[in-house]
Amino acid sequence: MELNQDPHYDLIIIGGGINGASVARDAVLRGLSVCLIEKNSFGSGTSSRSTKLAHGGIRYLEHFEFTLVYESLRERHLLLQNAPKYVKPLKFLYPIYKSGYRSLLRVRCGMWLYSLLSRNSTLPKHKRLKKEDILSLCPSLSPYGLQGGIIYYDAQMKDYELVLANINDASNHGLISHENTTVTNFIKDNKQCTGVIIKSGDLSKKIYGSTILNATGPWCNELSKLDEPSAKPLVAPTKGAHIIVNDLGLSHALTLEIPNEKRMFFMIPWENNTLIGTTDTPFEGNPDTISITNDDKQYLLNAANHYLKNQTLTENDIIDSFVGLRPLQYSEKTASRRSRDFSLFESNSGLLHLFGGKYTSYRHMAEITVNHIISQHPNPTQFYPCTTQSRMLQ
Ligand SMILES: Cc1cc2nc3c(=O)[nH]c(=O)nc-3n(C[C@H](O)[C@H](O)[C@H](O)COP(=O)(O)OP(=O)(O)OC[C@H]3O[C@@H](n4cnc5c(N)ncnc54)[C@H](O)[C@@H]3O)c2cc1C
Repeated sequence: MELNQDPHYDLIIIGGGINGASVARDAVLRGLSVCLIEKNSFGSGTSSRSTKLAHGGIRYLEHFEFTLVYESLRERHLLLQNAPKYVKPLKFLYPIYKSGYRSLLRVRCGMWLYSLLSRNSTLPKHKRLKKEDILSLCPSLSPYGLQGGIIYYDAQMKDYELVLANINDASNHGLISHENTTVTNFIKDNKQCTGVIIKSGDLSKKIYGSTILNATGPWCNELSKLDEPSAKPLVAPTKGAHIIVNDLGLSHALTLEIPNEKRMFFMIPWENNTLIGTTDTPFEGNPDTISITNDDKQYLLNAANHYLKNQTLTENDIIDSFVGLRPLQYSEKTASRRSRDFSLFESNSGLLHLFGGKYTSYRHMAEITVNHIISQHPNPTQFYPCTTQSRMLQ
């Protein structure tokens, strides 16, 4: 069935994850008319499957991604200030073991740099701890080979709820949004994207937009190919799995190294249970088909047991699990070395693509994206300046 009305918006956004939601919020607050299209339910993609940390990402310092870490730490501060309902400080212990890849000195240097890059932070400063202090704070940790460690602060976020909070604020300011509605094709005029065809159940409809934004995260390549079949991939997703086990009684989150690897993983108190994650493996299939494998579960259980005094976690202890795809920028580098920075890219048809980045920096990415969209408008001065740096999220 074909409907007759063909509405027109300043901006059509494809994808209701955190990137789509935050661009929608920023754009309506500036005075643009916006339509947001999501094929499932809002926040059902990667944005509800993260490790739920609003953080700078200590490990990116080792890749010299100082700007990325600095920006993320600034955004962590803004999230704690403007979204206290959804983002809270979280204490971390980083125990250092003799068999580990990083020495205590190296971690202390990293923490010093991390603190330096978060100068405006209101969180307490990091501190060095002796072995005995670590064990008294976290008695379930294995004492074998423990040399000492660091206590530091980052933040924990309710990732799914943050997506909805952004959409609610946007809806209160005129956002039109559709869930369970898929963009199936682009409408072109003189080779330029002027609209999209959306499908919901048996209904299909055309909607038109001055700007069309692809914010589909791990699905970005699919939309890009729909626009330009010969397009090179934009993202090379990697899969990240988490398991949830009954509360291990952790008073702090733990930052740990995967045994015999450089990779870090976390054990985090989460909704009265303990969240353990994550894996990082290349994924080339259809993003709709990801699932956690037994190998993923075993990898995380082995890593956790390596550090637990009683080493008893088995698959029977897993009460839940979830898996997501990191929409990392396509590059030849190995998965864990690929930049977590974001890209805003315009294809020959004028279709904009926003992808990559960290959840923590969503507000900043939205601001840059909307600045760009407004700068292309014939009358940019009619729009308001960005307000999301100080606007509370209810
Ligand atoms: C395992 C893991 C752990 C992470 N941990 C952290 C962390 O602790 N801290 C942090 O800062 N970042 C973290 N990240 C990164 C962060 O979660 C992602 O960068 C972010 O959620 C990506 O959001 P997005 O909106 O781009 O994508 P998504 O949330 O995936 O949204 C894209 C949406 O597009 C929709 N869509 C696709 N195709 C169509 C179509 N044709 N029509 C309509 N809609 C469509 C999808 O249904 C989906 O909802 C993590 C990522 C992973 C995978």
